Amino acid sequence: MQEKEKTALVWFRNDLRVSDNTSLAEAVSSYDRVIGVYCFDPRHFEYTSYGFKKTEKFRARFLIESVKELRTSLRALNISLVVRIDMPETALPKLVSELDVDTIFCQNEWTQEETEVTNELRKNLPENFIIRETYDQFLYHPDDCPIAIDNIPRVFTAFRKSCEKQAQVRPECSETAAMDPNTLLAEDGRIPDLASLGYKSFKTDIRSAFPFRGGELSATQRLEDYFFQTKKLGYYKKTRNGLVGVDYSSKFSPWLAHGCISARTIYWAVKRFEQQHYKNQSTYWLIFELIWRDFFKYISMKHGNNIFKIGGILSKSYKWDHSIERFNEWAKGQTPESFVNANMIELNETGWMSNRGRQNVASYLTRNMNIDWRIGAAYFESLLIDYDVHSNYGDWMYVSGVGNDPRDRKFNVRLQAERYDAQNKFQNLWLQKTLF
Ligand code: FAD
Repeated sequence: MQEKEKTALVWFRNDLRVSDNTSLAEAVSSYDRVIGVYCFDPRHFEYTSYGFKKTEKFRARFLIESVKELRTSLRALNISLVVRIDMPETALPKLVSELDVDTIFCQNEWTQEETEVTNELRKNLPENFIIRETYDQFLYHPDDCPIAIDNIPRVFTAFRKSCEKQAQVRPECSETAAMDPNTLLAEDGRIPDLASLGYKSFKTDIRSAFPFRGGELSATQRLEDYFFQTKKLGYYKKTRNGLVGVDYSSKFSPWLAHGCISARTIYWAVKRFEQQHYKNQSTYWLIFELIWRDFFKYISMKHGNNIFKIGGILSKSYKWDHSIERFNEWAKGQTPESFVNANMIELNETGWMSNRGRQNVASYLTRNMNIDWRIGAAYFESLLIDYDVHSNYGDWMYVSGVGNDPRDRKFNVRLQAERYDAQNKFQNLWLQKTLF
């Protein structure tokens, strides 16, 4: 008797890539037929209780571009990417039964909304159905982290030193082999455009510091360019606090947030650069920043839903203002501080803001205006192309004094502007709107 063909469904979430994707690699290595699926979850495009969209047009477009590219790369491996505009817990069980799927592979997510989706999905699948979840978003895999989750320290330096000393970054997955072309599906669903998700199409602002497209290919091109063509990696530490232009920092964050590139791939590319060219403080510093990214993932794993609570992980009971009018002054870039305003206008016009800008506007909202940090975090969640739940909520808690900052500092935004924008180049770029 012929054995039944085994089918795997790879459910893509924030891991929109073919290279170094553990779920995909494992599915391809042990199943006869592999099918990908991506769900544009309608809940992600709704309005929040604060009155703005959960996802604004900048990230929506980046996501559409990333999914399009994923479909093309998967097709080259004879793998169909089914696309649905539906909730995963509804769409996936249908596919499981229609396509006679044996196993679902996906990235392991642990924050509230994502866990709720996975739990609902489990309820809608046959009993004992296997969902293989893997942690693929880290630089240091949780199984290799030298510190138990409950003991993750509050201070970043302690975490970093321990990982640097005792953990190894895993090698990338080997290249994915192509499947049998006969396993391609005849129908795989249309990828929505901006209009069908409820947005108007728009042109990228010519001043944008992030004029790139979504997808694995543009991520790889950016890495090649920033590291190997222009060697800007070699002086990243000197430029990383910049405010204007494309090259003051790597700009990897939107691709990392959507999983168009893995942190491991970036790490091993830095190592390759160090071997081929040189090693210096800048090459180290890029990895240092990737460890920050990991740190906030471990913090959210340890503290669960406290990262979304007003008191943060320290359960601080500060007095917060909830005035929507005052919040809107900040959000629209109408505060008395031109440096804050310029950064907010940049965010509103492009979906991007530098790290220096983010620290300043977040500090200003929470330390000067005393507005509930969670409204600021939700606004960033809406606008940022690179929104990542762990970094966003981790960094917001850090700046607003309910998180991991041992120094608990308040930024003097005027001094910051003098230091980082001495010639007013950045402020003029965003405040003199009529020029553009
Ligand atoms: P680079 O300077 O080139 O750094 C390389 C990578 O290191 C980044 O792509 C990022 O993955 C990581 N990294 C750098 N700084 C940080 C940091 N402070 N925390 C965590 N990871 C870091 N980053 C996001 O990816 N998504 C967010 O939603 C987000 N929200 C933020 C909110 C606030 C209030 C603040 C202060 C920072 C936030 N950051 C967030 C962190 C940081 O500002 C961005 O990661 C960085 O500006 C992205 O630019 P880059 O890729 O050129 O960074």
